[in-house]
Amino acid sequence: MTQAPARPQSSQPGQPAPSGSTFESLDPATGEVVGTFPVHGEAEVRAAVERARSAAEWWSALSFKDRKVYLTTWKAAITRRMPELAELMHRETGKPRSDAMLEATLGIDHLAWAAGHAGKVLGRHRVSPGMLMVNQAATVEFRPLGVVGVIGPWNYPVFTPLGSIAYALAAGNAVVFKPSEYTPAVGEWLARTFGECVGRPVLQVVTGRGETGAALCRSGVDKVAFTGSTGTGKKVMAACAETLTPVVIEAGGKDPLIVDADADVPAAADAALWGACSNAGQTCAGVERVYVHERVYDEFLAEITRRAQGLSAEGGDDAKIGPITMPGQLGVIRRHIDDALERGGRAVVGGADAVGERFVQPTILVDVPEDSAAVQEETFGPTMTIAKVRDMDEAVELANGTPYGLGATVFSKDNGMAIAERIRSGMTAINAVISFAAIPSLPFGGVGDSGFGRIHGPEGLKEFTYAKAIARQRFKPALALTTFERTEQADRRLAAIVKVLHGRG
Ligand code: NDP
Repeated sequence: MTQAPARPQSSQPGQPAPSGSTFESLDPATGEVVGTFPVHGEAEVRAAVERARSAAEWWSALSFKDRKVYLTTWKAAITRRMPELAELMHRETGKPRSDAMLEATLGIDHLAWAAGHAGKVLGRHRVSPGMLMVNQAATVEFRPLGVVGVIGPWNYPVFTPLGSIAYALAAGNAVVFKPSEYTPAVGEWLARTFGECVGRPVLQVVTGRGETGAALCRSGVDKVAFTGSTGTGKKVMAACAETLTPVVIEAGGKDPLIVDADADVPAAADAALWGACSNAGQTCAGVERVYVHERVYDEFLAEITRRAQGLSAEGGDDAKIGPITMPGQLGVIRRHIDDALERGGRAVVGGADAVGERFVQPTILVDVPEDSAAVQEETFGPTMTIAKVRDMDEAVELANGTPYGLGATVFSKDNGMAIAERIRSGMTAINAVISFAAIPSLPFGGVGDSGFGRIHGPEGLKEFTYAKAIARQRFKPALALTTFERTEQADRRLAAIVKVLHGRG
């Protein structure tokens, strides 16, 4: 086991002294201290936002090309130092190092895309003024908001916050980032390496618990990008409402995976197992429910059971599934399994004893009533329910039967697209799992209790901007309409034109 590092330094030179208290981040597999961090209070958060505001003036005045140079330098630094970052991720979340490397790689890819596409997506471009306003030149561009507050979760401490941070920065904003209290070292590392590459406090980190996040909501930032649970998302929205601060809410999910009669069953079983159990099931868009066509149900269940029996959550360097990062989640997972079993469900893998003190063993539940907690609420553990369905109509109906609507997966050779279109979710993968998250040009986000707004892709860049429209008169209009000098003849001609343009159909 590696030694606990010395207390990390704050990433913001010249920052006012924190209120004095500190907190520790712990290795969830061992309980060992990874680092000690300041609890930043209201005053420190406001000071960070003030520093960000002046940095934002410089950053937003740069061209897209110049910002791309800085972001590319940062991207290369993260890439070169990825093993160091992955080690921190491994220690703070317990996830296997190889999973940490994969996560960091995806985050880097998003950073590259955001930096490379911001100019094209957000830069000034002409739009048609329409027939009535043909004398005007119309243009629109997307301007940065100023300072964006990013509040992140612990489960993907690099990929998830970078989904907001990279896009907000590429759009020309400064960012103040509050990482989860479980992963402050990773957040501090990101801000410190950015500072080394850019030399100005365009990206800063504030550390602490929920109160620090709440302080960020009230700090006067121009937008808050929140990723976390639905319950906390509501608190964030309520706090932001006081100052009319806009928010993006990337909240939880209860994602279904549907297996049609013509699906590649071994591939579907492999994807379902990985989607449900990788990262110990602590994935917002992870698979939590599986609906299988009755014609392939037995084959699917046998296949996934066989694969799951060879898998276990454990400590050590070769583990494929690590510990549950947040101790409080163990009770939720236990409650969902117990409730499912009490209500007639059966565990074909794992079960009531699967929940240990730090680790949860893969658990597959069948015959679970659709209105039980294990089917309706986010479990966030390496568990899944599997249900048999008559046809794809029933599969879609059940898939759409929770208040969440984040991601979904469909396995079908012929009907994947048709089924995907009927699922109420922000993203759907066909014949692969969670693939949409790794495609930087696709927007990421949910509907219903999974939140609103989008990160990633062109929509994710625009999320951190406001549209600036400009109409420039090129020549005098044939009909002078916006004047008190408007004549009756002009009114008559306008009526005739509008009839020609819009009177039919
Ligand atoms: P939480 O909602 O507990 O926390 C999220 C962040 O909000 C943390 O940084 C937390 O700080 C902070 N916070 C807590 N209370 C407040 C408050 N009152 N005001 C402002 N900020 C506050 O979520 P988890 O960290 O447990 O993350 C897991 C959840 O995130 C799951 O529901 C998962 O589905 C969701 N998620 C969604 C994703 C998406 O893109 N849709 C992606 C990844 C995860 P602290 O930790 O210090 O308490």
